[in-house]
Amino acid sequence: MTRFAFLISPVPADATRDIDSTITQIDPDAPALSVGDLSANRGDGVFESIGVFDGRAKQGAPHLERLAKSARLLELPEPNIAQWSRAVDRAVAAIPDQGEWTIKLLLSRGVQIGGPGAPASGPTAWITASPAADFTAAREKGIRVVTLDRGYDSGAAQRAPWLLMGAKTLSYAVNMAAAREAHRRGADEAIFTTTDGYLLEAPTANVILRRGDHFITPEPTAGILHGTTQLAAFDWLEENGHPTGYEHIPVAALAAADAAWFVSSIRLAAPVTHIDGREVPVDHDLTRALNAHLRG
Ligand code: PLP
Repeated sequence: MTRFAFLISPVPADATRDIDSTITQIDPDAPALSVGDLSANRGDGVFESIGVFDGRAKQGAPHLERLAKSARLLELPEPNIAQWSRAVDRAVAAIPDQGEWTIKLLLSRGVQIGGPGAPASGPTAWITASPAADFTAAREKGIRVVTLDRGYDSGAAQRAPWLLMGAKTLSYAVNMAAAREAHRRGADEAIFTTTDGYLLEAPTANVILRRGDHFITPEPTAGILHGTTQLAAFDWLEENGHPTGYEHIPVAALAAADAAWFVSSIRLAAPVTHIDGREVPVDHDLTRALNAHLRG
């Protein structure tokens, strides 16, 4: 349920004046977008989801940087970071200082003028704030996961940049279909794999594996989203004396891992209990400490 929403009138990336007046709080239940908006018609836009824990937004700057990166990949006008940042601050100010919330930032190509292929009006942009789902069970008990073929080989992202594999686009129908397939197979979540046998990411999370005292995650250039939570987790692990690294990780390494986690901004770190039906060890102490850090 969306509790707050703000419409943003995008201004050029370098504009500095009068930013507050370009952000308008709107009724979250009232119509706000044109039926011709390309986000709704083609998923042609980008977004971010920021976790807010007890009134504090986490990883705000990395989320804004990634919004700008996704916009560049889709050849959308460059977002004005100060403007988006101000909109996030206004949403945070409206959120109670206890509990878990999600702020979503959405940037669409806009409304199509004329027939298919015609130019758009210019971007439409808005943010919403909603109470987050309760992820206690996933964080404390863990999740069962299955591997699912993404249908690409590990060179696809480099070879075919128009697939937009490193961008957080509004086209999540494939991600949602993979989540449903995981449920059909009796699991909570999926991990995508390449056709040549490497790990990618989950439909809405990154994967971290523990091998001895070493923590690894798939190389972001291989066509996955570079997660803000994975980056924050690696910083914390390094500070606590655990080496971390990016690798091309063969699928077989999953079954051999000493522990595995799905990490993302709202759910935070969810330990993996089973991979394709096989049990994997769970490090509850480390999970608790990591989540306390990510939330704190
Ligand atoms: N990969 C995908 C496809 C995602 O949708 C997400 C988050 O929604 C992530 C990874 C994790 O990113 P973050 O940690 O920044 O939330």
